[in-house]
Formats: sequence, structure tokens, C-alpha cells
Amino acid sequence: DADLGVVDPEVAAAIDAELTRQQGTLEMIASENFAPVAVLQAQGSVLTNKYAEGYPGRRYYGGCEHVDVVETLAIERVKGLFGAAFANVQPHSGAQANAAVMHALLTPGDTILGLDLAHGGHLTHGMRLNFSGRLYDVVAYGVREDTHLVDVDEVARLAREHRPRMIVAGWSAYPRQLDFARFRQIADEVGAYLFVDMAHFAGLVATGLHPSPVPHAHVVSSTTHKTLGGPRGGVILTNDADIAKKINSAVFPGQQGGPLEHVIAGKAVAFKVAAGEAFRERQRRTLEGARILAERLSAPDLADRGITVLTGGTDVHLVLVDLRHSELDGRQGEDLLHSIGITVNRNAVPFDPRPPMVSSGLRIGTPALATRGFDAAAFAEVADVIAAALTAGPQADVAALRDRVSALAARFPLYLTVGKAVR
Ligand code: PLP
Repeated sequence: DADLGVVDPEVAAAIDAELTRQQGTLEMIASENFAPVAVLQAQGSVLTNKYAEGYPGRRYYGGCEHVDVVETLAIERVKGLFGAAFANVQPHSGAQANAAVMHALLTPGDTILGLDLAHGGHLTHGMRLNFSGRLYDVVAYGVREDTHLVDVDEVARLAREHRPRMIVAGWSAYPRQLDFARFRQIADEVGAYLFVDMAHFAGLVATGLHPSPVPHAHVVSSTTHKTLGGPRGGVILTNDADIAKKINSAVFPGQQGGPLEHVIAGKAVAFKVAAGEAFRERQRRTLEGARILAERLSAPDLADRGITVLTGGTDVHLVLVDLRHSELDGRQGEDLLHSIGITVNRNAVPFDPRPPMVSSGLRIGTPALATRGFDAAAFAEVADVIAAALTAGPQADVAALRDRVSALAARFPLYLTVGKAVR
């Protein structure tokens, strides 16, 4: 029963270093967050030892009485959180959840209609090299070149032309809301399933700060670690009993073997946290921070440098910075912000003239900083630091900006008790 630091000092040192990185820098990758210590504890528990193939009350292994309690809590809590009749909490990740949804409702060779990866969609929505692109016949919709908004009229036109079996709505890089009712109308017109992947904005939906896809979609998937703030993992929701049966059998035995009950315990804790008032207040600050960021990064000093914000603002937890007309490309922007202690990711923007590895965009999100406690004033300061860095480019005063970042990180401490648990 020796401590990690004794058994494996190399791994322990890397974990400690990662903790220090998370504490000392500003995390603005839109898909990341900080799970509460209670979630880390559940995830680091003895539940990792247990095989539990099957579902609560219907397992293929003995000794499942306690993991049944945990999984049932996770299921009931997530159903309550999103007002769904059925939930499967076993997908190991968002990609696994999406694979299970398609496995449940499609046959290889069926047509799916999803948002183009280059326009903000996810790999699992039909990218060529992904299982979704290899197993299914993919038709992609995009955003309009003039507005950068998803063109639902084009979705309707493509649906009528290609008669997909499934329409996928949801995104990884898009700063606005989708009209789920209109998507459902289109799906009904052509006899398709509507599948909404709310991985990015689930935390906003849980708190009523974003329209819910659950009443409109045949099936909804999510990750549990983005705005939802839980452990890495996936979940699938539906209100349809027949679809629920197919989903359960597609997850196990269709896609997975033993569920990760330690992660499911973390999900149960996260769903409890997400039902509380503090979580709602945090999502409110997440949105407020993104709006502050969008406003600052749309100002004339940036526009003069060819830097703008896609769609001119945001309704969600992220901002897409458009560098197509800037000397600074996405990779340089990402590296520059990294050098001052702000972590973001470069991202292709729609109609990007630069290659994907370079790209002309930055995706900047606020969920992790909101979890640290950032308020409007702190978000205004970080927006100003980013604006100063991007306008100065290679001439940026890295040391001075890094000091401002460190001061913010120090003002909002993170995981004060976690280091001791590892050492
Ligand atoms: N769906 C969307 C919309 C995503 O943005 C992501 C992750 O970025 C996923 C699914 C996949 O989640 P995971 O990385 O857990 O497989």
C-alpha cells in the first residue's frame, strides 16, 4: 500500500507538475474545466477494481450491489438535470457515446447529415478518417460565408436532396445557439432521426441558460467534462423507450465491455453539483465572461490589426477569434498566449485560407476560469491581456503580460488541497 510518490516517483512528479501548471496558468481551452475535488476522489476510488458488465440489477458479474447504487444515482440525477426519461451513463467518452448512438440507430452505409468539421463540427459527426466517416455516407452542412451562422435553409435543402437517416446537430467550435425545433421539423419532413450532441453547452442547458435539445431530439449525447464540469466521460439521453432499449444494447454489448464505475461515481457527484445554485451562478459567469471577451476582442484596436470575432459576439461559453486578415496566424497566436501563461487552442475558421496545422483562428473559452471564481472584473482584465498580446504580436512585452496573468492566477487559487493527496 505504498504511496504513489514511493511506487512511481516519475509519474508522481509529472502529476505534481501538471497540478502546478493548472494552478499557475489561465486555462481557456473551451472544452476544458476543473472537476471538483469530490469528483477526483470518487474517480480515484476502489470502484476502479469492479467489473460490472450489464446495467444496475442486470449484471453479468457478482458483487455489484454497491456499484448498482452508484450507477443508479448517476442515471436518476442526470435524468432529473435534463428532464429526460432515459439515460445511459456508461459511455467512456463523448466519442464513444456518439459511436453508440449511431450504432443503435443506423446501419453502415446509411446517410448522415452533420456539421462540417471545418465549420465547427466534431470528428464524430462524419469526418473522413473517423468511424462516422468510414461507416456512414456523410453529407455535410456548413455556415454561411457572409454571416458565419449555420444555414438551416441549407440543412433543409440537403436533407430533401439526400434523405439522411440521421441529422446531427451540435458543435465543437461555434459561438451561437442552434434552433433545435427547426432541426426536428426538417428531420420529421425527411423521416430522419435528430441527434443532438450537446457536449459543449450541456452545463448551460442544465442551468436553463441555453435552450434544451432534449424535448426536440430523438436522442441527445454529451460529454461530462466540458461546461458540465465533471469527470471525462459521456452520457446519452432520450425520451423514447424504444430508442432507449437500442441505446443500452449499443453501449453494452455493442461498443463497450465493463463500465468505468469509478468514473460513473464521478459523474453522479458532478450531476449533483450541477443541480445546485452555485453551479448555476458559475454558468452565468461563464456566459458573462465570454461576452466580455467577445466585446473586448471586437474593439477597433484589434480590428486595425485585422483581428475580429466570428459572428461579432457569442451566446455561449466561447469566442472564435478570426485571424484570416491578420499577420498573426492561429499557431503564432496560440504560442504567443502560451508564452504569457494563457492556454487556448488554435482552430480553423470556416473558409480558412491557411492549412489546418497553422489555421486562422483561436477558440477561447471561459468555463474553467468561471470555475476558478472569475468575476466580470477578472474577465475584463484577462480580455485586456489577450487583446494587448494579440495587437502587439511578436513585439508583445511577454514578461509584463505574464506578470498580469500570474497575478490573476494568484487571486483565484485552485486545488489548494489536491497536491497533498498525491504526494
Ligand atoms: N462531441 C463534441 C461536440 C465534442 O466537442 C467532443 C470533444 O471535443 C466530443 C463529442 C468527444 O468527446 P471525447 O473527447 O470525450 O471523446
